[in-house]
Amino acid sequence: MVTNSRLKGFYKLSREERLKIVAEQCNLNDEEIELLQDPAATDMRILERMIENMIGAISIPVGIATNFTINGKDHLIPMAIEEPSVIAAASNAAKGARETGGFRASASDPIMIGQIQLTKLPDPDAAVKKIQDEKERLLGEANSVDPMLVKLKGGAKDLMVRKIETMTGTMVIVHLLVDVRDAMGANAVNSMAEHLAPVVAEMTSGRVFLRILSNLAMHRIGRASATWSKEFLGGEETIDGIIEAYSFAAADIFRCATHNKGIMNGITAVAQATGNDTRALEAGAHSYASIHGGYEPLTKWRRDEDGNLSGSIEIPLAIGLIGGATKSHPVARTNLKILEVESSTEFAMVLASVGLAQNLAALRALAAEGIQKGHMRLHAKNIAASAGAPPDLIEEVAIRLIEEGKIRMDRAEEIIEELRNKG
Ligand code: NAD
Repeated sequence: MVTNSRLKGFYKLSREERLKIVAEQCNLNDEEIELLQDPAATDMRILERMIENMIGAISIPVGIATNFTINGKDHLIPMAIEEPSVIAAASNAAKGARETGGFRASASDPIMIGQIQLTKLPDPDAAVKKIQDEKERLLGEANSVDPMLVKLKGGAKDLMVRKIETMTGTMVIVHLLVDVRDAMGANAVNSMAEHLAPVVAEMTSGRVFLRILSNLAMHRIGRASATWSKEFLGGEETIDGIIEAYSFAAADIFRCATHNKGIMNGITAVAQATGNDTRALEAGAHSYASIHGGYEPLTKWRRDEDGNLSGSIEIPLAIGLIGGATKSHPVARTNLKILEVESSTEFAMVLASVGLAQNLAALRALAAEGIQKGHMRLHAKNIAASAGAPPDLIEEVAIRLIEEGKIRMDRAEEIIEELRNKG
């Protein structure tokens, strides 16, 4: 069990040393340690079963965000991401939140929505009423599809009906609300919606087309809040800057897209590391951000009574501990073990906290120094490597690019040439 996620100087250790610490705290076995170090060791037959037309695999680095304490429990957070600075930023923000007691988080029950689309109805209003009157029978029908979920105290819990006007006429849309417990739930919900479709079609004399889950998982919400002291943030002025940046996002969709993208940097990286459906999370987050009509920030920021910065997040989180690739991909399984969450609701609390931390880090960097400075070193190294620098020259080429203020591929190529000629 993770006893202390406050790992001072973790970033200065070698990869092997870092892995040793994580393995000890998370009780990883030799096979799991081996898999993390050599993703190619993942059995190709497992990957081949996951998608169609498979020809190979791509490695994405997995790193650990440190310092997180959520509802009093420490977590080491595995993130799979190709973008530099995200993990460092999350770890740093979590360090600041830790000083004031860490993240306080909660999550709703894991309720997903299955939609059934009814068209060509002779009497749409009568159809709405009929479905509402037959609600209990329909819920029973839906639950007959997945006795396992019902046994786990999940399953279809409620049903809502709406009439909508569309380009092709009036439709009645049924929302089946399903508690999917520890699954992401897409297959579970789709199976129930498919089973119910002919029943409601017959009941209403309508025609059913779509029967599939909605990725706007508005009943499956994770929430987190935390406080960062003005001392940690570098003074009152930084707090002013953060609140100005937040106001900008709340008033301007162009800024808001980037604000919310920053939140998803962390959330999607954890989802990727654990074999979850990143596209479902992104679709859910951005549509939820628009649920009041305009596109809004998923976080809120304010200065509290003591002059410190208080932040909160509210976001739909359709994630699972079972189903999809979470259990079938051995590296995803190992990362889930590192994460130490016992239910999909605890997982949602962790992800909400990660999203809030990520947003704080981005806003702080923008308000204090400009984001590019933080990105610069790793970015320059990436450019050096892409320009063909051999491993022993990457650092030197990157330093030269930063000093010259020209972090560009053409300049990197010239420097590599110069150094080669010298050597
Ligand atoms: P799944 O198909 O494995 O279903 C989970 C099933 O496991 C449940 O139906 C239940 O019977 C059983 N189960 C056992 N223990 C459980 C527990 N503790 N909690 C919950 N269920 C338990 O997985 P899923 O989560 O339904 O499907 C996820 C996959 O579907 C992902 O790979 C996703 O990419 C994919 N998908 C997504 C979409 C979309 O987002 N629009 C559409 C289709 C498929």
